Amino acid sequence: MADRKPKWLRAKLPAGPTYNAVREMVDKNELNTVCHSAQCPNMGECWSRGTATLMILGNVCTRSCTFCNIQTGRPAELDFGEPARVADAVAKMKLRHCVITSVARDDLEDGGASIWAATIRAIRYRNPGVGIEILTADFRGVADHLDIVLNAKPDIFNHNMETVERLQRPIRRTATYKGSLWTLNHAKSRGFTTKSGLMLGIGERESEIAQTLEDLRKIDVNILTIGQYLQPTQKHEPIDRWVTPEEFEEWKEFALDLGFGVVESGPLVRSSYHAEEQSERFGIEESVASEVA
Ligand code: SF4
Repeated sequence: MADRKPKWLRAKLPAGPTYNAVREMVDKNELNTVCHSAQCPNMGECWSRGTATLMILGNVCTRSCTFCNIQTGRPAELDFGEPARVADAVAKMKLRHCVITSVARDDLEDGGASIWAATIRAIRYRNPGVGIEILTADFRGVADHLDIVLNAKPDIFNHNMETVERLQRPIRRTATYKGSLWTLNHAKSRGFTTKSGLMLGIGERESEIAQTLEDLRKIDVNILTIGQYLQPTQKHEPIDRWVTPEEFEEWKEFALDLGFGVVESGPLVRSSYHAEEQSERFGIEESVASEVA
């Protein structure tokens, strides 16, 4: 168990007119954000810059990962008006690049794939030229369901490994290491830019981190995020250690040497943190703009 939070994890406090405008827009459109549901420490910074990560398919997840603060249970009925409201919110936030995620919906026949596809298409229709990055669950390894989402053509496909192979069972429970590699590889085999992320400080060993990064590179994952695990409540997985900013920098160098195109690595990094800048560095925005032009 780690000691008190170190000073490098102190994040900006939520405040200011842009922050309030984002909050009002989310509330008015009856939307969910992973920023709020997961108690992300970057809300102050991201929302003050006018960005938020919208979470579709409700705010109740059918899985019960031990690191995650999103409510687990039986989700409410599907909201077929959600794709249009998400597209509208992206327009109102004047985003050039949006990140959409969802809870896992193992209760639905297609894992929520058709709502995913409708959301991507609605955003594209209402916001031509905006980059669309999606962060999805694994669709339980059903290629037909994942293909429904991919056929709607997001610009970046993100699926997080979350942790190393040995810790998948205790931490992610339902999802598996091989299943996540399969998910990313399937998107890659269809020509998508792929992205994944890892949390550190949850009990992994150095050699296991290196192995995970190597496994991700073997399937040509392009963009990588690495951040510190933070325990949302006492009931969640305890923090094993505080990873220093210097160690994050070392992993960044290691990952770049392996050949990742863009690596964001630091204590407060989350999948969607500075996502627009990452996609620009990878050259995604330019290709979206020329496709639409
Ligand atoms: S890092 Fe992502 S989840 Fe966290 S506040 Fe920013 S946009 Fe939201």
